[in-house]
Amino acid sequence: MAGIYIHIPFCKQACHYCDFHFSTSTKKKTELVEMLCRELELRKDEIGQQIKTIYFGGGTPSLLNSEELELIFKTIFKHFNVSENAEITLEANPDDLSEEVIKMLDASPVNRLSIGVQSFFEADLKLMNRAHNSEEALSSLKIAKQYFDNISIDLIYGIPGQSNEQWIENLDKALELDIPHISSYALTVEPKTALEKFIEKGKVKPVEDETYREQFDILVNKLTKNGFEHYEFSNYGKPGYHSQNNMAYWLGKPYLGIGPSAHSYDGTSRRWNISNNMLYTKAIESGNLPQQTEKLSITDSYNEYVMTRLRTKFGVSTDDIQQKFGEKYRNHFLKETGKFLDDGLMEKIENTFHITAKGKFLSDGIAADLFYID
Ligand code: SF4
Repeated sequence: MAGIYIHIPFCKQACHYCDFHFSTSTKKKTELVEMLCRELELRKDEIGQQIKTIYFGGGTPSLLNSEELELIFKTIFKHFNVSENAEITLEANPDDLSEEVIKMLDASPVNRLSIGVQSFFEADLKLMNRAHNSEEALSSLKIAKQYFDNISIDLIYGIPGQSNEQWIENLDKALELDIPHISSYALTVEPKTALEKFIEKGKVKPVEDETYREQFDILVNKLTKNGFEHYEFSNYGKPGYHSQNNMAYWLGKPYLGIGPSAHSYDGTSRRWNISNNMLYTKAIESGNLPQQTEKLSITDSYNEYVMTRLRTKFGVSTDDIQQKFGEKYRNHFLKETGKFLDDGLMEKIENTFHITAKGKFLSDGIAADLFYID
């Protein structure tokens, strides 16, 4: 089982909180799509496994037109063995999702939409500099639901100025619309973003840690009461709607990352492409892969395993640690988990350790404490 990730590095405008790789000039979009196809061809033998998931991320993949999308699919199907029931997700922004575009996507192999709603409130969308408005957020979902069954939306909590009542209203809107999968992230202030500058200049008030915690608790309670499984720290799905792409990533399955800034993983090493559209294009045009590679040590792999697994419903199995990394790491894990078990932040079911409801908000901090430092 393996996956392909395609990075579409273009956006209409820069969201104030975003530190992903993208360009707001779409002049070279078609040329870049051709390069993505060349990279797919150059790397066709890298993953000798059937492809079970394809994920178009970005950037904004919903900026692709039908010819560009068709060219990418043609290339993938020509060079890779794609499973008949592969999950094929495309990230889309509400302002791109006219009925015409949704119909075009429905006619393509895409079978899952991940829509970047973020909030249904105009003030939140303005503050984040999203390209869509609240009306478009609602109307895109109503139309998308007529054509797609498997829909996920992104919602952000911890937006400056957003009250808990507004956060509840956002979740209620998603529930009313009967969306089967929600990914929800805290708004983090990344270095060198407009949001960081606004906070430094006092134009935007930073959000208190307590508010993040309260809104996270509201999110977990509301969605789990409404039939969603909280299957990963930021992901909630109704039965049958968990993201196969994300699950494969958390379970350490290999994937090929295509496009500027895309990351790949083959089970033992990580590679990442250059985060520059022009240099990426130049390299691919001359038949080179603009990549860096990092071979993961056993300690790196153990730390990654603990970090990703503790965020998921699967938890960390000490049998797995013993088998994959050895006795030394198993003993370290067992020694360090004691305090979290005593504090009720973790629980042990047979040989598998999970974060409890009380510890969920602290998942990443707990995982970091369980890391092995060489
Ligand atoms: S649309 Fe997505 S990738 Fe583009 S700037 Fe906004 S958050 Fe970043």
